[in-house]
Amino acid sequence: MHETVVALLEQRGVTVDDIVEIVYTLQKPYHPNLGPDECKESVIRVLGKREVQYALYTGITLDILAEQKRLPEPLQSILQADEPLYGVDEILALGITNVYGSIGLTSFGYLDKEKLGIISKLNKKGNSVHVFLDDLVAGVAAAASARIAHRNKP
Ligand code: MG
Repeated sequence: MHETVVALLEQRGVTVDDIVEIVYTLQKPYHPNLGPDECKESVIRVLGKREVQYALYTGITLDILAEQKRLPEPLQSILQADEPLYGVDEILALGITNVYGSIGLTSFGYLDKEKLGIISKLNKKGNSVHVFLDDLVAGVAAAASARIAHRNKP
């Protein structure tokens, strides 16, 4: 069931519609007849996958614990500083993208660079830690995009 993971995402400031918006922006140029409803269905399908949910639970939990300063060192300092060499967040998110094959990789790389929509908001940090969440959201959006690309093959 995707409801639990959707509630957790919302608790961290990300709605399904935020992710839908990214997917729509990514895929619209390739599929002129694509509507937001199809994008939403795709996002929900991706969030319905157990392996996707597990990746989200894992990453978001680490973000929350870092925010509460409850992680053991050296991990606490690494996450708090959002160390550029810490790449486990991207690796975990790629696990999501890979569920729908390599088409998602290009979108993930693009999102990592361009930081569309909610991803850029997550990146500007106040007191919150979103080391994992920004990449996980990009991973879900890339997977949902890949799913649409697969289904609308010419
Ligand atoms: Mg990150």
